[in-house]
Amino acid sequence: DTANVVDSEVVVIGAGQAGLSTAHHLARRGLAPGTELVVLDGSPAPGGAWQHRWPTLTFGQVHGIHALPGMELTGADPDRPSSAVLGEYFADYEDHYGLRVRRPVRVRRVRDDGAGRLLVETDHGVWRTRALVNATGTWESPFRPNVPGHDRFRGRHLHTADYRGPQEMRDARVVVVGGGTSAVQHLLEIAPLARSTTWVTRRPPVFRSTEFDPEEGRRAVALVDRRVRAGLPPRSVVSVTGLPMNEAVRRGRQDGTLDRFPMFDEITPDGVAWADGSTVTADVLLWATGFRPAVRHLAPLRLREPGGGISMDGTRAVRDPRVHLVGYGPSASTIGANRAGRAAAREIDALLYGVRPARD
Ligand code: FAD
Repeated sequence: DTANVVDSEVVVIGAGQAGLSTAHHLARRGLAPGTELVVLDGSPAPGGAWQHRWPTLTFGQVHGIHALPGMELTGADPDRPSSAVLGEYFADYEDHYGLRVRRPVRVRRVRDDGAGRLLVETDHGVWRTRALVNATGTWESPFRPNVPGHDRFRGRHLHTADYRGPQEMRDARVVVVGGGTSAVQHLLEIAPLARSTTWVTRRPPVFRSTEFDPEEGRRAVALVDRRVRAGLPPRSVVSVTGLPMNEAVRRGRQDGTLDRFPMFDEITPDGVAWADGSTVTADVLLWATGFRPAVRHLAPLRLREPGGGISMDGTRAVRDPRVHLVGYGPSASTIGANRAGRAAAREIDALLYGVRPARD
């Protein structure tokens, strides 16, 4: 049915840091007269994935974030939930720059119309577009490794994506799986309430003893960039920069909360077990095992390489130059999303209108 198809020059999917940054730069460059910048977002409110993060994740705990382009985030209370602070900031940003985001609009799939354009099919209509920016993040694609015995567990499986705070862990025996910042934060807030906590990671965790080194950050980004260019699945940039050290972490290492065990080999009805016969009883298995890019809706475009990733040249998908992925792979951080948004806007401008003098 093409009766209700709306034509547009460019559609941005996702209004998180990556989508808003790209929208900002596209709007500054300007689209052809009479055309509108279409931004679609599946979440109910402004804030991208921040609005879905657990309420006990305070703004003070995520202070490594970069502001959206052109508008600082100042004076926020570090003790308020990051979901509230960033939700309000994103709402102000959209208002300030007059960025109209259509929400909640969920993109089901994107396909080629056979005549040079892309059809963006959603639960609220279809857009036909010359260019596409995919900025859908990872939050909606939680990842959990396959471990034998998964379905036999009589307790509760919970992923970071579903975690709402330590209250529900009161008096429970909790095994936290994962070597990233989320796992550490979960453990530190659950331990005082739970009957017991056990931390399990595949590799020994590395705590940053010093301040974050920007050079190390650049190396991490370069590593992910090489993987993505080679068509391999990206690794998380944020996860390869080491775990931040602070007073709470120091205490957790002293009192044993952050003693770590190697990954278990099996899940039993009562908990977890290692090949050497040791076991830990658990009521909850909390999987802080990360996320994967939420790109299932792009499957009809066949962007994937045999290696399992989408091969990229900067933000452009190698197999379809009309498609840009922002916040994907090397740009999956708040600073990376900002830069990638600007780069994608420049390239889309050139794709749509030919090369114009750069304005920024
Ligand atoms: P998101 O914020 O996830 O936005 C994507 C948007 O797309 C969402 O609104 C979603 O609803 C929408 N969407 C998804 N699929 C569809 C669809 N099919 N149709 C329509 N809409 C869709 N980075 C830092 O730099 N510093 C930090 O301190 C930091 N802390 C973090 C803490 C946690 C717990 C996590 C999980 C990440 C953290 N990061 C941090 C990473 C950072 O949050 C992200 O890299 C960045 O915010 C991602 O922005 P994004 O725009 O790519 O994605």
